[in-house]
Amino acid sequence: MQLNESLIRSVVAQVLAEVGRGGSNGSPVAPKSFAGRFGIFTCPDEAVAAAREAFERLQERTIEDRKRIIAHIRRISMENCVELGTMEMHETKIGRLVHKIEKLKTLGERSPGVEFMRSEVYSGDHGLAVIEHAPFGVIGAITPVTHSLPTITGNSVSMIAAGNSVVVNPHPSGKKVAAEGVRRFNQAIYQDLGIDNLICVLAEPTLETANAIFAHRGISLICVTGGPAVARAALKSGKRAVVAGPGNPPVVVDETADLDNAARCIIKGGAYDNNLLCIAEKEVFVVNSVFDAMMTAMERAGAVRLNAREVETLTKNAIIQVGEGEHKHDAPSKDFLGQDAAVLAKGAGKDISEKVELIFGETDLNNPFVPVEQMMPFVPFVRCKNVEEAIDRAKEAEHGFRHTSIIHSNNVKNMTRMGRIMDTTLFVKNGPCMASLGLGGEGYLSFSIAGPTGEGVTTPLTFTRERRCSLIDDLCILGKPKR
Ligand code: NAD
Repeated sequence: MQLNESLIRSVVAQVLAEVGRGGSNGSPVAPKSFAGRFGIFTCPDEAVAAAREAFERLQERTIEDRKRIIAHIRRISMENCVELGTMEMHETKIGRLVHKIEKLKTLGERSPGVEFMRSEVYSGDHGLAVIEHAPFGVIGAITPVTHSLPTITGNSVSMIAAGNSVVVNPHPSGKKVAAEGVRRFNQAIYQDLGIDNLICVLAEPTLETANAIFAHRGISLICVTGGPAVARAALKSGKRAVVAGPGNPPVVVDETADLDNAARCIIKGGAYDNNLLCIAEKEVFVVNSVFDAMMTAMERAGAVRLNAREVETLTKNAIIQVGEGEHKHDAPSKDFLGQDAAVLAKGAGKDISEKVELIFGETDLNNPFVPVEQMMPFVPFVRCKNVEEAIDRAKEAEHGFRHTSIIHSNNVKNMTRMGRIMDTTLFVKNGPCMASLGLGGEGYLSFSIAGPTGEGVTTPLTFTRERRCSLIDDLCILGKPKR
């Protein structure tokens, strides 16, 4: 048989496609064993292998291709926000539907993408040194139940913008919507660009699968978003970790504040998604001279005040003790966490309209709602004799997480004092918490705010490693030519 050159080429292309090295005609190809899985795995080893393959294929692509990939994630988050947000609400059973939908839309629109990538250059007598930001490879991400798919959306956009792929271990109570979102993202990316499994998700996540990711040799970097236990586990993993840990954001209101604005802001931030945001207003310290006026301003702005007996009843019902022995501590009860204000009010023995977004009441410092990250739309207000005391109390309530703090004031000295003492990643003045993420304020958005490890509001650059490329004694075109 005479060998025909074009036949040989087509057979070779087919074989290469089968083994996952790419086809000659640009048609979608992926490693045979994982193609068509669209990122859904139950075995961590398989998920990491598939994500590794996807990473290598992404490495062969242009920055324009990264933009196209991200455009699919953005489009799906925005176009499917009602369906996926409703799914998230039904599955997790916490938060408010309207905000579940809005979060997906916002993360799709605003998560930092390729436009955040940059390089630095040193130019001088000895030539040029260019510092570029390269991907790590496969990132292991752990995501919270409070924002299951939104966190995956934001992480995926930023991690892929930097050239990485990702394996996600979602919270078990948000695993279905996580898998559905990831499936849609991968399917669209695969159909358009021929790369499958850039975002892999463990469909049956457990502590064991999380630990397998922490320990896996194929994972180059970990990014966890969650509470104290997972933050500690990530820091002990022996891998480089970006840790977006818990918060308990205090608010200080001093005698110079615009009280009506303060009240509107506390309701907007503290009630958002029923107080599930890690940055949300969790307790308020008000100076005595404006305390009563502030309580009235809260009512004027639409929040409902509980009296002392109602606060006591709610506290008994909504805060429970967990842990054993020396680890015993107060925690929010699952029956109330992330529930509507009307449900909490019922737990306090009060009937209120379903339309009320936030309830509040005066408590003393010892009420567990002050130190506990309650994640429910009841906010305790504590009376303080002056701003110094209010700031000191705020410092204690924040537990040194250095996450978020807020002040309402028109006294720049008070703002400065609080900023210095709190030392938090986000420090908001005269706005609701989300203004610090560019939603009504300046700056940009991410749902992974890395306080403990110091990266702050994460961007694609968070998920890169620096590489330096030096050219010696040439291409610096400034100054006198050398002889
Ligand atoms: P969580 O800590 O219960 O769970 C978070 C994730 O970690 C889940 O996927 C969970 O399965 C996993 N996990 C928990 N313990 C683990 C362990 N020992 N080892 C491995 N994995 C473990 O938190 P949650 O209720 O899902 O989310 C709310 C918490 O997350 C709050 O504390 C909130 O402040 C925090 N959070 C922080 C940020 C941030 O950007 N800093 C953003 C969102 C939420």
